[in-house]
Amino acid sequence: AIKMYYDKDIDTQILKQKTVAVIGYGSQGHAQAQNLRESGFKVIVSDVEGSDNYKLALKHGFKPRSAEKASAEADIVQILLPDEIQKKVYHESIEKNMTAGKALVFSHGFNIHFNQIVPPENVDVYMVAPKGPGHLVRSQFEAGAGVPSLIAIYQDATGQAKSLALAHASGIGAGRAGIIETTFKEETETDLFGEQAVLCGGVTELIKSGFQTLVDAGYQPEIAYFECLHEMKLIVDLFYRGGISGMYYSVSDTAEYGGMTRGPRLIDATVQHKMKEILREVQDGTFAEEWIHENQTGRKVLTEKRREHAELLIEKTGKKLRNMMAWLQKDA
Ligand code: NDP
Ligand code: MG
Ligand code: MG
Repeated sequence: AIKMYYDKDIDTQILKQKTVAVIGYGSQGHAQAQNLRESGFKVIVSDVEGSDNYKLALKHGFKPRSAEKASAEADIVQILLPDEIQKKVYHESIEKNMTAGKALVFSHGFNIHFNQIVPPENVDVYMVAPKGPGHLVRSQFEAGAGVPSLIAIYQDATGQAKSLALAHASGIGAGRAGIIETTFKEETETDLFGEQAVLCGGVTELIKSGFQTLVDAGYQPEIAYFECLHEMKLIVDLFYRGGISGMYYSVSDTAEYGGMTRGPRLIDATVQHKMKEILREVQDGTFAEEWIHENQTGRKVLTEKRREHAELLIEKTGKKLRNMMAWLQKDA
């Protein structure tokens, strides 16, 4: 069985003597910085001067400073910038401050695993990755609970990297829920595969294909939208609470029988073969290289794909229908 670490297994003293700099006060930054501070650690933060998140940090009682100043002052430098700009900010503002014995921390492994950031050998490099969005990491902490998190050690220069990672994870509240050890390679590759094959790419194309099939057969787009996209939330909520059996327990027996007999005809061996191809492109760096190149060349493909999606009938249909749902208007 996989080993779980809880607060009772963790000595946080090791991190109490250090200053942690959280670089980037966004989704993860605002949550992890506040949680660490309330757990009794010394935390400083960085964001772009004058930006909304800079002002938010001020409002939360931090004195935000530049990435350069924060990384110079801190022993532990946690990079919570968007993954696509981490390399640039690291080279311009952080690298020169990564002196012997300091630690570099990430919440996602992309830049380390694909060698976009190559830290000096005499610093620790570890990961603390909550399995949830920043607002949940914060709200669970405030409620006295936590979000389960992964830790990983990439480089252990001081011999203390794992103790630091556990203390750090405990500080954000993860020790209340459970901490699991992984590697930068495993976290990065499974994250990319999951979002491409299942969570974002797979689900989206499944919805689009179902919608198109109904519309092509002459059914009204509005009805197809409800059936293929809108109701997805109900099903996903059931998965989230009770797994696959929980979902099948709650739907009708007709849906259960139809799903169990028709689903495998759709997602068959050819789909699994293509999933293996997508996984291989993640593992051998083909995808990373493509995405890095895309960012260096003005994001032309991404811009075009966004435009294509905005023009889909399912999107136009959905916009109209969502305007009829008062409970969806609040946070629009
Ligand atoms: P966000 O985009 O929410 O936040 C990044 C922050 O960095 C923004 O406030 C941005 O400022 C700020 N920033 C940009 N440039 C600089 C700079 N030069 N100096 C200082 N601050 C700067 O990112 P996330 O929190 O989503 O992601 C951070 C990391 O956490 C990533 O590695 C991601 O993969 C990982 N992660 C994210 C999860 C999530 O749920 N979001 C879950 C688990 C891991 P502004 O936008 O105001 O200009
Ligand atoms: Mg991801
Ligand atoms: Mg139905």
